[in-house]
Amino acid sequence: MGRRLAVASGPLACLGLRPVDRVSLRPNGIGRARPIACPATRRWPAFPGNHNLAENPGATPLTLQRDGGDGPAYDYLIVGCGLYGATFARLATDAGRRCLLIDKRPHIGGNCHTTARHGINVHTYGAHIFHTSNRVVWDFMHRFADFNNYINSPKAFSHGKLYSLPFNMNTFHELWQVHTPEQALQKIEAQRFRGEPSNLEEQALSLVGTDIYTTLIRDYTTKQWGRHPSELPAFIIKRLPLRFTFNNNYFNDRYQGIPIGGYTALFKRMLEGIEVRLHTDYFENRPYFDSLATKTVYTGCIDEFFDHCHGRLEYRSLDFEHDLIESANHQGNAVVNYCDHSVAYTRTIEHKHFESNPSEVTIVTREYPQDCTPDRIPYYPVNSLANQHTYNLYREQAQALPNHIFGGRLSEYKYMDMHVVVEAAMNRLRSELKQAEPLAAGNER
Ligand code: FAD
Ligand code: UDP
Repeated sequence: MGRRLAVASGPLACLGLRPVDRVSLRPNGIGRARPIACPATRRWPAFPGNHNLAENPGATPLTLQRDGGDGPAYDYLIVGCGLYGATFARLATDAGRRCLLIDKRPHIGGNCHTTARHGINVHTYGAHIFHTSNRVVWDFMHRFADFNNYINSPKAFSHGKLYSLPFNMNTFHELWQVHTPEQALQKIEAQRFRGEPSNLEEQALSLVGTDIYTTLIRDYTTKQWGRHPSELPAFIIKRLPLRFTFNNNYFNDRYQGIPIGGYTALFKRMLEGIEVRLHTDYFENRPYFDSLATKTVYTGCIDEFFDHCHGRLEYRSLDFEHDLIESANHQGNAVVNYCDHSVAYTRTIEHKHFESNPSEVTIVTREYPQDCTPDRIPYYPVNSLANQHTYNLYREQAQALPNHIFGGRLSEYKYMDMHVVVEAAMNRLRSELKQAEPLAAGNER
């Protein structure tokens, strides 16, 4: 194992990778020595080097009203510079609409953001692999970057053994030493849950039976979501393919890859010619920001938009710890899952394996799931029945606002992958523009 050169936690530290002063792993690499707080967004350093992006106007109000006071300066104020906001802004701008994007973070790209460190594109907020079967979405993304041919094939540790994911003939062989699909099916058939699954536990037991559930799903899921799988919706586990072939591809989609040069470079191209204000929190002067545009596109948390009037929606957060390690290859794979309850983190990511990176050092990130306290970033909506009920109340209120559009993972309170977000933004803009045909993907490179 290579020597650890530095350890850092949270997105702030990821940008800095400070020298070692707080090594947080126990010698055996298992468990977590101390709690880590995720820094508040406004303490983050400025995002460097993007000349197109205006810096924070701070407390000084923007003076963007059109000369002569003949209406708002913009057609759309877009709150959130993640994939939904950026896609909407790009396509609206292409259609001749005037857009202003704001984000409270110091960088573009939302959770897709990458930071170049030691020649390695670090996925600041966890592994992001782009996959889709939608050719229009794939072509749209290719306007802004070339993609490599990376195929996600995570490994999973459980009780000292390494398994292949998603659940496929390799996994079945590793677990049961079976060789044929028929033998694997017999194993599953003998132990599977029969009946209509009503939660994640029953769904998993119904798909793959007890052995895989207890080895690879139960504890990982409990760590990830902070609750037992029987208290979670069934659809979450259906994200993972189940196949009876020797195929470790984590996704079934036709197209898959990582943008060469990182997601931040992709977003820079996507936002060319569009006005962006970072470090700018919509809630610091909401009436003013709304007054700048005919419509507001909001991609933040929907319950926050309505002052939590129906109660807080639950989100799951993550803490990230990053190690800079003096080794060319630390774990041999981009993603390794940790399925035991005794290991506090769920995943380790070795970023250089997303691209064929020849660097002599490597950066490895551990993901620790957390409850989403107010000082943490919300990453995953927790779509339990109670939360879904509360969300429906907010959605009704949102639908009654003619000049506000609610889109993206936090605003639609939905477990959306990137391609789904792009498609949702495209569809929403299309209905805005009342176009009958899909928006053209075009080619700018
Ligand atoms: P976000 O990226 O969250 O953007 C919302 C933006 O709004 C943020 O930048 C935020 O700062 C800003 N904002 C919020 N409130 C305000 C405010 N009041 N004022 C100003 N700005 C505000 N998808 C995949 O397809 N493949 C993957 O491999 C994958 N891996 C993932 C791994 C992790 C750990 C996570 C958390 C998600 C992953 N995803 C993946 C999903 C992907 O991140 C999302 O689909 C996508 O980023 C959602 O984009 P968005 O614009 O809806 O949200
Ligand atoms: N999951 C699991 N074991 C694994 C990987 C995933 O139990 O090794 C379950 C877990 O509940 C997780 C869900 O499957 O939340 C979806 O997994 P995915 O990899 O899609 O999660 P994401 O990348 O969105 O965090």
